Amino acid sequence: MKAEILKEEELPENFTKTKKKVLLKGLTLEELQEYFLNEGEPRFRGEQLFNWMYNHLAVDFDEMLNLPKSLRKDLKKKNEIKTLEYVNSETSHESGAKKFIFSLRDGFPETKEKNKIESVIIPEGKRTTLCISTQVGCPLDCKFCATGLMGYKKNLTTGEIFDQYLLAAKDLGKEKLTNIVYMGMGEPLLNFNATVKSLKIFGEELTTGISLKKITISTAGIAPKIKELADTGIKAKLALSLHSCFEDVRSKIMPINKKYSLKENIEAIKYYYKKTGMRITFEYVMLKDINDRDEDVKALIKLSKEISSKINLIPFNSLKHMDPAGLSAKLETTPKQRIEEFAQKLRDNDLTVMVRLTQGKDIAAACGQLAIKN
Ligand code: SAH
Repeated sequence: MKAEILKEEELPENFTKTKKKVLLKGLTLEELQEYFLNEGEPRFRGEQLFNWMYNHLAVDFDEMLNLPKSLRKDLKKKNEIKTLEYVNSETSHESGAKKFIFSLRDGFPETKEKNKIESVIIPEGKRTTLCISTQVGCPLDCKFCATGLMGYKKNLTTGEIFDQYLLAAKDLGKEKLTNIVYMGMGEPLLNFNATVKSLKIFGEELTTGISLKKITISTAGIAPKIKELADTGIKAKLALSLHSCFEDVRSKIMPINKKYSLKENIEAIKYYYKKTGMRITFEYVMLKDINDRDEDVKALIKLSKEISSKINLIPFNSLKHMDPAGLSAKLETTPKQRIEEFAQKLRDNDLTVMVRLTQGKDIAAACGQLAIKN
């Protein structure tokens, strides 16, 4: 087997240590084919396993009835395909949004508290979107985001990213989920390999679930990784969390802007558009007196005209329940009427604008409210 498949950080820590099992969930079609070839099995076993894990959402080798019994027994002994465990869920009475808490199977020893992540199902008319996490916590420290306040713990593996979809789809019914957004906890482009591998799995011709056109990767702006993503040839949608068109303001609310400036990120998303042909989404959290002034709307109009894009205006969801300090404690949302005015000015300039409804505030599952209180 390829060394890559066994990479230590790709495996939930104690699988290898205590059970000596190889985790197959998260391997791409190519990797699964190679795995079976190395085990002395025919290559098509890779396709069969791929189908079971990623299309039929099997959680146990016993379900895989078209595999010979002896092979199933062998797989059970040597391998593992489960990565997450359901902890609990809560449904918003306001909007029907459902927030799940899943635990990683990484407690070692078993008594140690396991890391937890959140995923949210968001019904919006005909669409039902699943919002998934890519990291436990987040290192970026954006001042308006609850996940930032909890700090960074670790990257999720490809299997852990996929299994959020598996568990949500099993709960709701696979056919009901229409879209996926990588907008939960964490910065997807700082967990680049696992994020790309999960996209490869969703984008594989064999995959029957959600197509890449219905998947959006949201980034705070890691310019070189945006270009790298474009170069993979994967055509998923990209959203840039913009929040301000001014470098100084952006650096105050999003410290990552000091490392990768807005200018570099704009260049990167233009490159992404050129390579993929996918229209870019600008996410813009409305913060009173910070990014909702007349000069802000002017700058946003100018920028949006430079690139094929649409704009999502998001009312800021309070972090008061987190009891933050510093700038975070002072942030307030732009009043509704001002958000409407702001949106209208953009529309008057022929730009596509959505004012996002705030979903699931009552269960702390709205944008930027995801944080685990351990
Ligand atoms: N790290 C990625 C994905 C996670 S954030 C990124 O930054 O894009 C997903 C979206 O929620 C982003 O647009 C983010 O800016 C927005 N968001 C974060 N905190 C928020 C809050 N308190 N209220 C409303 N939206 C928020």
